[in-house]
This record gives sequence, structure tokens and C-alpha cells, in this order.
Amino acid sequence: MVFGDRTMHGKMMGTSLTITEIMRFTDRFYQDTEVISITTDEGVHRSTYGKVFKRSNQVAHALLHLGVQPGDRVATLAWNDHRHMELYYGISCSGAVLHTINPRLFPEQLVYIINHAEDRIIFLDPMFLPLMETLADKLPSVKAYVVLTGGEKMPDRKLLPIHCYESLLSDQDLTYEWPELDETTASALCYTSGTTGNPKGVLYDHRSTVLHAYAACMPNVLGLSHDDVVLPVVPMFHVNAWGTPYACPIAGAKLVLPGPKMADGESLHALIEGEGVIIALGVPTVWFALLAYLKESGKAVKTLNRTIVGGSACPVSMMEEFEEQHSVYTHHAWGMTEMSPLGSVNRLLPGMGSLNASERNEVRAKQGRAPFGVDMKIVDDDSNELPQDGVAFGDLKVRGWWVADGYFRQDDNSDTHDGDGWFSTGDVATIDQYGYLNITDRTKDVIKSGGEWISSIELENLAVAHPDVAEAAVIGIKHEKWGERPLLVIVATEGVVPDETGILSLFKGKVSDWCIPDSITQVDEIPHTATGKISKKTLREQFANYSFG
Ligand code: ADP
Repeated sequence: MVFGDRTMHGKMMGTSLTITEIMRFTDRFYQDTEVISITTDEGVHRSTYGKVFKRSNQVAHALLHLGVQPGDRVATLAWNDHRHMELYYGISCSGAVLHTINPRLFPEQLVYIINHAEDRIIFLDPMFLPLMETLADKLPSVKAYVVLTGGEKMPDRKLLPIHCYESLLSDQDLTYEWPELDETTASALCYTSGTTGNPKGVLYDHRSTVLHAYAACMPNVLGLSHDDVVLPVVPMFHVNAWGTPYACPIAGAKLVLPGPKMADGESLHALIEGEGVIIALGVPTVWFALLAYLKESGKAVKTLNRTIVGGSACPVSMMEEFEEQHSVYTHHAWGMTEMSPLGSVNRLLPGMGSLNASERNEVRAKQGRAPFGVDMKIVDDDSNELPQDGVAFGDLKVRGWWVADGYFRQDDNSDTHDGDGWFSTGDVATIDQYGYLNITDRTKDVIKSGGEWISSIELENLAVAHPDVAEAAVIGIKHEKWGERPLLVIVATEGVVPDETGILSLFKGKVSDWCIPDSITQVDEIPHTATGKISKKTLREQFANYSFG
């Protein structure tokens, strides 16, 4: 029903939802809460939200000095540390757009995205100077480079014009008159890794960022409070470290930023123990590394209470190892760049306490339920909505306050966005009657055997539960009779000759017989994308001529 001009408007303040408000709030209520970083130039660095935000004021002055205008894209090629955090707030709150760049992208992709974004300034970790020196002459929009280090550590400079971050900041005023931004002002830009075609830019705004951070704090989402110590082992250069640089300040949680030590079990253990980390977030690969280190060294993670695992499917065997060996509870989560990224988090419903271990694991293996703010549905090839019964599977579509409604500088979004405001995630999923989402595959990775679909994710999760398997990937191989059949590609546990029959027998009774891989093949390494996911595309190319014999 449309009320037209008979609508009665409320008499409430229309204050804009901006990242500046997060900064103001946290600076007032949690200015002494710590922000700990591992830096590439100074080792461990101890700061506080108060100090970080003071320096964000200096960043804003420095940007003016460098000629940055509102709306200009200012890029970072940086690890998770306090300087990156200073830039997160300094750039976005001054009205410019923080473009976080993933240094793991191929050089030609880096050139593409920097030119596509027309970045004006690039703030970079000293580690990435050699890389940028090889690319600089292909980047006409970049007017200056700023190296994230202090004067005495400033490396030999070939890039021009180049500045030292600490020297640039040292002369700047500690207070800045922040503009009162409209809440739909663009705040940050992040490109998807572009496994097919060119990377696409997702342009977040202040409103979506604040709402996402608000939701992330909620008890059934990440459940953050000022009693927490949070370690995001997810990079600030990809989807804003899952929103933790915004959510932790709102919650007043202590933030521990691991710098370049993102997948090194020993360093992660030292950080967790040293800083009393309670909640850690990351992709499964990171936790494989930590768990392997804990096993090998016999060490414990005494303060760690919860891990939030997403980005790729989290195997149940990992959840069990965390819980049984280390009393750490794992929440499986799902999201994507276009969703800022939180799409779902797995928490058991109150009535589920009575489930037996295997029923419980079945629920926990799923990617969880959508938080308030995200709406989801599954559809068939003709866009008809499918039942949410845990059995029917189809293309997953989402909509909500922190879901992108298009891509930066791309006029036609009809491939991904329908006319009714839904975004096609490119994932295939089931949703059960309780709302738990279960991702079976990326649309482009599904294996179709004799007209039936086989979930590669389910098979991979089962395979890594075998002690001989360090990593597993399942791809479809062309088959004369069935169209495609699954091939299990594994990396064996170090020093082990894998027991292939034993591994295959693991699937018996857990999946239908026709889903069991036809064969196993061993490789030294499984290829990964720039965001740490298994690159099925590369694997399929590698095994293009494979036949089951
Ligand atoms: P990229 O730039 O590599 O696409 P994203 O972070 O946007 O990076 O990737 C999002 C995709 O990652 C999702 O669409 C989904 O396929 C996959 N993904 C994320 N979390 C999970 C999960 N818990 N289980 C399975 N797949 C996941």
C-alpha cells in the first residue's frame, strides 16, 4: 500500500551513520583500549585507540597537504597494523575513499585495479616497494607514494615522488576538523580477486560500514564486547578484515593486529598467548597452520575461547580438534566481498543442546544463519524460489543493508543483480527449515554427474579428516558415461605415504556411493587464489587431460 503524502514522519534525529561517529565514540569511551600490532619495521608496536585516532587526524592533514580531494581514491598496500588502522579512519573520515589493495594479486591485476580506481596516492609497506617500483611507470594516476615506516628505516628510494609516513605525519596537527559527511558517501573500495574476468570493485559507504559493524557486534553474530581481545588474521587488504577495524572499536574490544605473520603457526601462538587473545578470525588455512604448530610443539592457547572461520568451508575435523584438544569453540561463517563481508554465522539454536554429537556436527558444518540485515533465498534456473528444507539446492541470492547493489564504474550489473533488488552470490546452497545455510559449491565449480550434482565442498571436508591428508580439493573430470566424475586431489601430510584405500573408505556411508570420488591423485601443492581459496580453475587446467583410465 502506498500512503503518498499522507505518510506521517517521525520526529527523530537524522544523524548520519558515518565512520567518523565510530571514531568519535571510541575516542571518548575506549581511548585507552589497546591496539597491538606486529609491524615489518619495528616488531611489536603497542598503541591505543586514542593514539591511533590522533594519528588519523594527522593523516587527514597529510592528505590535504598531498592534494587529496573528497572522493579521491587513496590506496593502501599494507598488512594488519596500527598504521593501516590510522589510514582506515584518516582517509575515509576526510571524505576520500580508502582503496585497500591485495598485494597477492598478479602484477597485471594490480595495474588494472590501480588504473581502474585511478588511485591518487599509494601508502605502502616497505616490503612492497620493489613490487611497486616495477609497476610505477604504468600507473599514471598515482601522484605520490608514502612508505609506511619511520625516517631512519626509510629504504633506498627509486619511486618519485616518495614520502616517509612518520616524517609526513610528524609535522601535522593532532586535531582535524572532520567534515560532516552524508552517510552514503563512499568510504572504501575493495576489488574481488577476479578468478574469471577482471577484478570488480565493491564500493562501500559509511552507512553500510556502520550497519555492518553494528551487526557484527551482536551476540548471535561475532558477539563482541569490551571484555574481548580480538585477533583478525584476515587481512585488512581484503574486505576490511571482515569489518573488525570498525566493529572492535564500537565494542571497545582490544585489537591485536598480526602484521605479515598471517599464516605462521608459531607467531600466531606467541601473539595469542602474549596478548591474551579471546577471539580469533581467519580462513581455514591459517588455523591448519596454528593447529599443526600446537600439535608439534605440545603448546596450548589458554586464553583463546572462540575462532570464527570462513572464507572457505571449515571442515568439521578442524572444529573438533579445536574443541577437543584446546577447548576452543569454532563458529563457521560465510560471506563475500560484495557483502562487506558478513552473510551468515553459525550458532546453535537453544533447542539444539540436546542433539547428539553427530547431529550437532551436521548443523555446525553449515555456514549458519543470516544476521538481522541480510535476507537470503535460493532459486532455480528460472529464478523460482526453492523451498528452505535443507534438501533443495539452488543459486543463492541475497539482499540487505551491506550488500553491494552494483560495481564501481560498471554500468551494467544485470549479470549479478536482478530487477527486484537481489544479488546473485555465485554460490550454490541449501537453506534448512531453521534458516541454516549450507554452501555446496561455487556455481562454476559444481560437479554434474549423470544429471546429479555432487558437492565438492562436502567431499573435501571429509577428506581432510583423514590424518594422511594435509589439504584436499575435488574437481570434475570429463567422463564419457556420466558427463563428469569427481577426482580427489590431495597434498599428503608431511612424511606420509597416503593410504588411498583408507581415504576413499572414509566417504562410505557419509555420502551416497555415486558421490565418492573415482580416484585420488597426489600433488606437492594445491594452487590458491589471491584471497587464499583453492583455485579450482587452475586445478581444472592442470588436470585438463586427466582420464580415469
Ligand atoms: P574473492 O575475491 O576470492 O571472490 P570473497 O571473499 O569475496 O573473495 O569470496 C567469497 C566466496 O568465498 C563466497 O562466495 C563463497 O564461495 C566462498 N566462501 C566464503 N565463506 C565460505 C564458507 N564458510 N564456506 C564455503 N565457501 C565460502
